[in-house]
Amino acid sequence: MTSIKTIGVVGAGQMGNGIAHVCALAGYDVLLNDISQEALEKGVATIEKNMVRQVSRELITHEDMQTALGRIKTATSLSPFAEADLAIEAATEQREIKEKIFSALCNVVPERTYLATNTSSISVTRLASTTDRPEKFIGLHFMNPVPLMKLMEIIRGLATDQETYDMALEFSSRLGKTTTNAEDYPAFIVNRILVPMINEAVYALYEGVGTVESIDTAMKLGANHPMGPLTLADFIGLDTCLSIMQVLHDGLADTKYRPCPLLVKYVEAGWVGRKVGRGFYDYRGDAPVPTR
Ligand code: NAD
Repeated sequence: MTSIKTIGVVGAGQMGNGIAHVCALAGYDVLLNDISQEALEKGVATIEKNMVRQVSRELITHEDMQTALGRIKTATSLSPFAEADLAIEAATEQREIKEKIFSALCNVVPERTYLATNTSSISVTRLASTTDRPEKFIGLHFMNPVPLMKLMEIIRGLATDQETYDMALEFSSRLGKTTTNAEDYPAFIVNRILVPMINEAVYALYEGVGTVESIDTAMKLGANHPMGPLTLADFIGLDTCLSIMQVLHDGLADTKYRPCPLLVKYVEAGWVGRKVGRGFYDYRGDAPVPTR
């Protein structure tokens, strides 16, 4: 048995605040870090809003919420991570950003600290190799939104040792997640299958096969998906979808993974989905309106 008490989470965006949320409710002390003070404030406000919803649905008590919120500390510096038993990186999906974070983390965390990445697609082995402890490094791929989604994909790098894998299993079980093991190949299992489907939906829009609404309706009612692929893309973040396609394209060198130019255009415009209020839909009014 491992003795994980304090979890450090780097990145307070959609995923980081969700990870902090479930860890705090599971009884861990949480250190939440972001380079942006605004992102930290927004992250904590989101956690609070989501916990209030859980209280109103009687999934947790008001006291559980208060205790959990009291366990979360925020900082724009990584120095409090000197206390972390496990540090989970959930920052922007760019290899250079993640490598810099891990190199900064290695200067702060003690020898006992396990390192994990929530990357959607980047090689765990490669990220691990840039640290001083590739054997204590693992991929913990949470799903969005973290408090609701049951799955955690576990990805072992080439050097990840058994103790680290056992720690990951124990940690995920305490969070109440079901795990699946994926080998360390581009985008692992879920995104290897899901994101090319989303990219194909963007191609269908780009080529005029359907409108935003007809593509989403077709896949909801025709394939029984709970959400249309373009709505889902907005939910994930178009920047993240594009990064995943680029990793698939580079890593597997197959033209079937070429990112759709329309996806690139949306990212270039900064219309990256729900998190900024606009993507394939505009979310700034009462109801989402297609942007094409
Ligand atoms: P996001 O854009 O909502 O949040 C990213 C956060 O990282 C931002 O708040 C940003 O300020 C912060 N950040 C950037 N550089 C940083 C640094 N050097 N130090 C600290 N913080 C930094 O993105 P997200 O959707 O939360 O995605 C985060 C990670 O989780 C990515 O690796 C993504 O691939 C992965 N992921 C995303 C989803 C999804 O559906 N969105 C699902 C699973 C995994």
